Amino acid sequence: MTLHTTDFIDIEHRLGAHNYKPLDVVLTRGERVWVWDVDGNRYLDCLSAYSAVNQGHCHPKILAAMVEQAGKLTLTSRAFRNDQLALLYEELAALTDSHKVLPMNSGAEAVETAIKAVRKWGYEVKGVPDGQAEIIVASDNFHGRTLGIVSFSTDPDARGGFGPFAPGFKVVPFGDADALEAAIGPNTVAFLVEPIQGEAGVMIPPAGYFKRVREICTARQVTLILDEIQTGLGRTGKLLAEEHEGIVADVTLIGKALSGGFYPVSAVLSNTDVLGTLKPGQHGSTFGGNPLACAVARAALKVLTDEDMIGNSERMGAYFKAGLADIRSNLVKEVRGRGLMLAVELHPEAGGARRIVEDLRARGVLAKDTHGHTIRIAPPLVVTRDEVDWALERFREALTAAA
Ligand SMILES: *Cc1c(COP(=O)(O)O)cnc(C)c1O
Repeated sequence: MTLHTTDFIDIEHRLGAHNYKPLDVVLTRGERVWVWDVDGNRYLDCLSAYSAVNQGHCHPKILAAMVEQAGKLTLTSRAFRNDQLALLYEELAALTDSHKVLPMNSGAEAVETAIKAVRKWGYEVKGVPDGQAEIIVASDNFHGRTLGIVSFSTDPDARGGFGPFAPGFKVVPFGDADALEAAIGPNTVAFLVEPIQGEAGVMIPPAGYFKRVREICTARQVTLILDEIQTGLGRTGKLLAEEHEGIVADVTLIGKALSGGFYPVSAVLSNTDVLGTLKPGQHGSTFGGNPLACAVARAALKVLTDEDMIGNSERMGAYFKAGLADIRSNLVKEVRGRGLMLAVELHPEAGGARRIVEDLRARGVLAKDTHGHTIRIAPPLVVTRDEVDWALERFREALTAAA
């Protein structure tokens, strides 16, 4: 018996926890920027699995590396060494100018790892009294879904009903350097922040904000941790979004596209002695740094640079953004973004982003609505000018139909 779209949805509804509200499209195949559903319809993917598929769906070179490594050795645990980890360290450190690397699996694990390491750094290097370390975060942040991380979320959906929460976090408004400066105390060990807030709706801070953040953190001996899990690896038209700001973080978190969407791989990159405080037995993960993950990540990084995906992101992002602005729909309040991390914010009276996104799906474009009125647009970084033109026509049709 062949299962159809409604069958898959019925089974999911019956047996799955309802912690997502996906569009009613059941995908079965992907190639570059395109995905196909079980009924054979083709869509241009304008979400890229929240930027995990920057290199495009099923990139043949990453696939080949994965298949080859899967036939040789997949998991050793870190109780033994493997011949892929050192090479990933070397390539990642060279690419990002980092001194130390700690591999994990999911993005949330990289965030948790950084929080643990920076607290330890606070006690052992900065001299913060035991148990008093404080970390400052930004309002409307998104850093993942673990209990530790939702402890400092300001989103009622992310936190509601999940307490009691972990102490030791302070929230300041995103984009306000004075508020950061005022919030820093003797026990502040870190400021954790996204260069552009993706989940909040592609929020770009005021010009000069990060320059001042960098100065303040340096002056007050506060570790600047940039969460580049979504913005990193080419999404904004640079390898790391910090380059737009002309700054260098002390600790950088990457994940998502580090595997090109093949496998969960994340990493903490450190330019200071933060990671140096971790001693054997104090942190780890069974799958973190496994040879399959490392081989996949090495291939994912290689194609990102070899195939000029970062340059393409910058060029196609500017082209896509200009094209969206050109549509001049009176439903649209603002078009914003950097590189291929784009958003169209609708006026509150436009009737919501969800109905536009549903209509776009019927026209062959998969995008994501966020916070009611914003449509996020983030195709794989391999998208061509013709494909952007094709997508722009669909956006024009959907916005015209909705007006
Ligand atoms: C997706 C994301 C995370 C969490 O990554 P997971 O792999 O889902 O745990 C953390 N920070 C940012 C900025 C993200 O976009």
